[in-house]
Amino acid sequence: MAGIYVHIPFCASRCSYCDFYSTLALGRMGEDYVEAVVAEARLRRAELGGASIRTLYLGGGTPSQLPIPLLSRLVAGLRQELDLLSLEEFTIEANPDDVSAEWCARVADLGVNRVSMGVQSFRDDILRLIGRRHTAQQAVDAVHNLRSAGIDNISIDLIYGLPGQTLSTWTTAVEKALALRPQHLSAYGLTYEEGTRLWHQRELGEVVEVPEEQCLAMYRVLVKMLTMAGYEHYEISNFALPGYHSRHNSSYWNDTPYLGLGAAAHSYDGTTRRSNPADLQRYVASVTAGKTACEEEVLTRWERYDERVMLGLRTSRGVDVERLRRYFGDEAWRHFKHEAQRHIEAGNLRVADHGNYVLTADGIMLSDSVMRDLIWDE
Ligand code: SF4
Repeated sequence: MAGIYVHIPFCASRCSYCDFYSTLALGRMGEDYVEAVVAEARLRRAELGGASIRTLYLGGGTPSQLPIPLLSRLVAGLRQELDLLSLEEFTIEANPDDVSAEWCARVADLGVNRVSMGVQSFRDDILRLIGRRHTAQQAVDAVHNLRSAGIDNISIDLIYGLPGQTLSTWTTAVEKALALRPQHLSAYGLTYEEGTRLWHQRELGEVVEVPEEQCLAMYRVLVKMLTMAGYEHYEISNFALPGYHSRHNSSYWNDTPYLGLGAAAHSYDGTTRRSNPADLQRYVASVTAGKTACEEEVLTRWERYDERVMLGLRTSRGVDVERLRRYFGDEAWRHFKHEAQRHIEAGNLRVADHGNYVLTADGIMLSDSVMRDLIWDE
């Protein structure tokens, strides 16, 4: 099994908190970029080693900004270069203001069966403050448009800890999200990434950071409301109705190989991480000349162990210690069990019925420090 990620690094404008790689150069570069991604798929398909491709994910950036003819060309090119016959999940990320009735119909025709939308907040004043282009009403309309087009696997992203947000306004945002009954919801705490516009605003005292305690309270409210509404809390930041876990994102957490195409995309095949340059021009020039542009990092045994532990702990499946022992040997197994014992006694970890080690609700709040103790950290 394998997944394909395609990075579409174009946005119509920059959100103030974002440090993802994206540019405003779609008009100039869109066509060349799409052709480069198709060429890269041809150059690198052997890296999949014949694994069956189950998921395709177009992320960004803002993939919904790609004009439909370019999106069609991209999908046709990928179908030509890769065997997508076993595809189970085809996701595209979208901004709510791009999700018109017509756009929904066209992407459904292309085989998209899941849409992940950056809603972030249901307050227009906050959306404006963080530089989002859409309104809360546009997000609501977008969900209706998707359903009308027959796309019934919808994920929405929210952010907590935004400037001006209180526990009460956050609770209202979660209520509004639940009223839409999306199949999947991801919620992330705001981080002030150095160099972003929001980071500068905080430095200048123009925005005030929500205290950490209040962010934790928001997270607790989120978990409570979503689990009461029937969502499975299957990863620290992700919730889904039964049967709607993101298959693509699950491949990042459960060691399934994935091939990342496009500028700034990452790939992992179980032993080696590859990353493409976060530079549109360099990426296009290199791929067009028939050369891949990725940097490679072969992980050591202990780095792979650390990865397994950290990613496993993020999920409700947890860490399979017997599998750790099989892959990494007795020394790794003893280290994990020894360190885990302290956290079991402290109530941060538990051994689930299936024998895996899983973070408790308290442990999730301390996940960084629990992970730090359990990894090997050469
Ligand atoms: S639309 Fe997404 S990728 Fe683009 S600037 Fe905003 S948050 Fe970043």
